[in-house]
Parts: sequence; C-alpha cells; structure tokens
Amino acid sequence: MNIRTRLTILFVLLVGSILLLFSGSVYYLYDQFRRQEFEQRLEEKAVTTVRLREDVGKVPQADLPVMPNEQVTIYNDRGEVLYDQGRQRHRQPVSPALLEQIASQKSSLFFQQGNLEIVGVRYCTPRGESLVSVVSAYDRYGFSKLARLRDILLFGWLLCLIIVGIAGYWFSTDALRPVAELITQVNAISATTIHERLRVGRQRDELADLARTFNALLSRLEEAFVSQKSFVSHASHELRTPLTVMLGQIEVTRLQSRSPAEYETALDALLDEVKGMIRLVNSLLELARVNAGAAPLSYQPVRIDELLWQAQSQVMHKMPTYVIDIDFETLPDQEEDMIVSGEESLLQTAFQNLMENGCKYSPDGRVGVRMAFEPGWVQLTISDRGPGIPSTDLPHIFEPFYRSASAMPIKGHGIGLALTDRIIALHRGHIAVESVPGQGTVFRVTLPTRNHQTARLPALDALTHQAPVIGSGAGVS
Ligand code: ADP
Repeated sequence: MNIRTRLTILFVLLVGSILLLFSGSVYYLYDQFRRQEFEQRLEEKAVTTVRLREDVGKVPQADLPVMPNEQVTIYNDRGEVLYDQGRQRHRQPVSPALLEQIASQKSSLFFQQGNLEIVGVRYCTPRGESLVSVVSAYDRYGFSKLARLRDILLFGWLLCLIIVGIAGYWFSTDALRPVAELITQVNAISATTIHERLRVGRQRDELADLARTFNALLSRLEEAFVSQKSFVSHASHELRTPLTVMLGQIEVTRLQSRSPAEYETALDALLDEVKGMIRLVNSLLELARVNAGAAPLSYQPVRIDELLWQAQSQVMHKMPTYVIDIDFETLPDQEEDMIVSGEESLLQTAFQNLMENGCKYSPDGRVGVRMAFEPGWVQLTISDRGPGIPSTDLPHIFEPFYRSASAMPIKGHGIGLALTDRIIALHRGHIAVESVPGQGTVFRVTLPTRNHQTARLPALDALTHQAPVIGSGAGVS
C-alpha cells in the first residue's frame, strides 16, 4: 500500500471516528433528554389524574391532554384497581411486588415495557389512604424525532466520510508531490550525469532538507567517482610509461646483434624498470588495502623507537648514500609512553616514505628525524634541507599521483605521501607539513600512544611555526 493511500485511509478513519463519537453522543444525549421530558409528562399525568379523582370525584377527560397509547390506572393499598382509563385493549399488568416498590418510593418510579414507558406515583389521600397511580404511554413524537435525528446524523456522517476521503486523497497527493518530483529527478541521475543536483526550491521543509542531504551525498560520490577515475587513468599511465620504455629498449637492442656487455647493460636497464614497476604495484596494492579496508588490520603494541631504527636501516640498505639522523629530544619516563597500537609493517612503510622523500629531494641526501613525547602522544619530526615544496602544491601533495613540477626530474610516482597520510589516519594520528621553498621541508607526525588512546591532540600551533600546515586530520578524536 503506498503512502498516499495509507494517509488517506488514516485521515478518513481518524475524522470518521471523531464524527461517529460526536454523533453517538448527540444521539444519546437527545434520547436522555426525550426520556426525561416524557417521564415528566407521565408523572404529571399520574399526579393530576389521582388528584382530580380525589378532589373532584371524577376525571374530566376532555380537559386533560392524552398521549398515544395512554393508560392510567389507580390502585389502592390492597392492589385493587380503583380507576382505569385508557385506549389500550389490555392494561399493562402491574405485579403486586412492583406496586409495593412504587408505594415504598418517595418519588416516582420509571420503567419500560416494550415500547411503552411507565411511571408509577404514590399518592396519600387526606384520609390517610395510600394510592398508587400508574401511567403508561408511547412517546410517538419523541421517538419519531429521535429516528429523524439518527437518520440525519448517519447521512451526515456518511457524507462527511466521502468529503474527508476526497479531501484526504487530494491533500496527501499534494503533500507527496515534491516526493514524486524528487523521485523523478533522482531517477534521471546516472553515472554519466552524476554532476547534476536535485532542485531544492525555496521551501524550508523536511523534503528540502532531504534534497540537500542527497545533494551532499552526490557531491561526495562524485568526488570519489572522479578520483577513482583519475586514479585508474594515473595508475595505467604510470604502468604504461615503464612498459613503453622497456619495449623501446628491447626493440633497439634487437635491431642488431650486440656484445655480451651491451646485452648486460640493456638487461640492467630493464631490471631497473621492472623493479620500479614492482615498487609501484606494491604501493598501489597497499594503498588499495588501507583505503578500502579490504583486509582487516591487526593492531599490535609497537615500540616507536624500534620502528624508526628499522625504517632507517631499510632505507639505508636500499640507498647506502642516504644519511638519516635520528635524535631523541626527550625520553619518556616509562616505556609504555613509546608504545603505539598499530600495524608494524604499515607504520614502517609510512616512516620509510617520509625518510626516503627527505633524502631523495635534498641535494645532500640527508634527513633528520626527531622524536618527542607528550603525555598520550608521540611526535616525529622529519626535516630536510631540500628545495621545499611550493605553497601552491602543498594542498595537493597527499593526493595520489600528485607530483610537484619541480620534482619531475627525480624518480617517483606520487603514491608515497598519499599512502603515508592514509596510514597515519588509520592509526588515529595526524600528519602536517611545513615547507619554505629553498630552505627545506618538515613533516610532523603525531600518533596516540597505546595507554592514552583518548587523549586530545596536542595544540597544533605548538607544532607549526613557519608555513601553512596541510595534512590529514582524519580519525583524530
Ligand atoms: P613521489 O616522491 O614518489 O613523487 P610522494 O607521494 O612521496 O611521491 O610525494 C609527492 C610529492 O610531494 C613529490 O612529488 C614532491 O613534489 C613532494 N614532496 C614530498 N616530500 C618532499 C620533500 N621532502 N621535499 C620536497 N618535496 C617533497
């Protein structure tokens, strides 16, 4: 059942029930009023008749109003009929018990038999005799007015139901029209038209909120979609370039027969390219792993100083000419303050990337790593005296495949910092960069220690002095 039908039915049921309650109350109250009025008339008739009979000796019929099916009977205290007048062929039988009950009443007694309403009244004569006057009649006019009222109320109720049904349907159609419009607009959006947005209109209602929320979702999806597309095209490009180089080398080498030394040189060049490709593919795989959360990460307690030494030896093993100075600014009182909860291999990849970049981009191939401890946090500062990063490039260096124009002559794929940023964010840490072109670059990594997972991030201005700070804040709580 759609919402429109459900709303209409609910509306009809609600208004119908209220009207039914109202009509029922009107009918009941009118019936009570009729009964009281008729009871009063019967009582008056009973008293007048018995009084006339006692005072005047007879009951002048012509002077008294007669009710339909009227029957007046007067009994003495022995239950004998003293007076009986009426058009009823058979008088309503009044049992001695009932007579006794009427005689014991201070006021009158009202009861019903079939469609006849009966009132019994006790009357004491000046002689001290106790008489009972019983009057029964049928309230023809009262009942016919009641039946008329019932018909009017029933007809009015049915008419109202129809009107409310039509109005409810119109109302719900009108209320749901913007929803139908939203559905049409949403249906028109596909992968090729993901840049389109829903019209919010000028309303400030919940549907406008929904449209705005949906537009925000579309923006996020579009961003992810576009970056996914550019990621694929960048990755293909990065893989095609070395393949093209390798193809060219192989073709040139095969043009004529070469000496063993020339073959060896060609093979070395090919080997370099293949190693580069393997590094790129490994980085891409790692990025995919940390990005999509494809494999669950296994967090273990990791000593950050040991990790730094390992990263240093790995980088220097690959590039023995690099110089990495590790310096402990302060040492924590307890070993616990040096332990972070994380995945060792990922954190090592992140530190290696930062160390390698520092060495790779500095003409002296030197990078300094400083480690400081604050309650609940470990701070690493990786600084070099390289060419620095232009301020226009700073906001983009953490994007996959982004490389500064000035970095082009140096080998690289633009994956390292994107991966590092994601790894630090996964460990609920923070990475920031400051760079002054011509003077050098400083990367600051802040990671929460294992025993202070909920500690607040130390004030960032304490970490940043010179240049705008760009980096991940994701996951920091
Ligand atoms: P890659 O080094 O492979 O190009 P990265 O993601 O590690 O990729 O770095 C992205 C870009 O950031 C680099 O191309 C370079 O322009 C800039 N960059 C990173 N680290 C440094 C640094 N220490 N000094 C100067 N530029 C840097």
